[in-house]
Amino acid sequence: MEETCKPCTAEEREEILEEIWTTLELDRITPQPGSRIGLAKLGNGERLSSLIQGGDIRTEADKAVLTEQGYRKAKEVVRNHRLSERLLHDVLNLQSEEMERSACRYEHMLDTEAADSICILLGHPRTCPHGKCIPPGECCDAGETSLRPLVVPLTELDSGEDATVAYVGTRDNGRLSYLTSLGVVTGRPVQLVQKRPSFIVKVDENSVAFDESIAREIFVRPALRRRSRERGGHRWRLRWGGGR
Ligand SMILES: [Zn+2]
Ligand SMILES: [Zn+2]
Repeated sequence: MEETCKPCTAEEREEILEEIWTTLELDRITPQPGSRIGLAKLGNGERLSSLIQGGDIRTEADKAVLTEQGYRKAKEVVRNHRLSERLLHDVLNLQSEEMERSACRYEHMLDTEAADSICILLGHPRTCPHGKCIPPGECCDAGETSLRPLVVPLTELDSGEDATVAYVGTRDNGRLSYLTSLGVVTGRPVQLVQKRPSFIVKVDENSVAFDESIAREIFVRPALRRRSRERGGHRWRLRWGGGR
């Protein structure tokens, strides 16, 4: 019986497109439709055939050329990967190996809306934790005038400003239970009363005080931004499985 080649899955094709993007960057070429890369750099030419058939690249002599469609897909997967790294690193405090492993999976699962929601949440970051450029999305152009992230440390609020606790960014369990006992828990509305000489926050009807090092670990969603986010209708949505 004739051997048939197993067709590349959508994820495998995305991996190759990502590799094309990063190889171009290493060559100091800004990826764009029509960018060319030596086929020899992409290893075994056979694995490119499904990209060629799918219209993501075409070949010219010894070069692979990114089509408009291939460029868009590569940009999306790279954006997803680097935004995921930022989320895992900055918000979830994961170290590099765990961060990388998860980012490699998330890059295939996020759709544009979810990626934009992460981008907005993090204040449209320009670079990943490795310093590589995050390709901007439509949200970044729209957000050009107001770059304040949706979630900020308590220290960034103005006195009198209302917010909701998003999460407490500490791995210190003692501190976490102390804050929990004060009512500083995810979803709880708070109001910053004053910043000096210490931070005073109104939680329910109680006023609680702590120093700046603790305030910096309490991340909140300022009230005004939360409303505009709800109006914008951004919602988390992950796409499970390969279906691209
Ligand atoms: Zn990175
Ligand atoms: Zn953005």
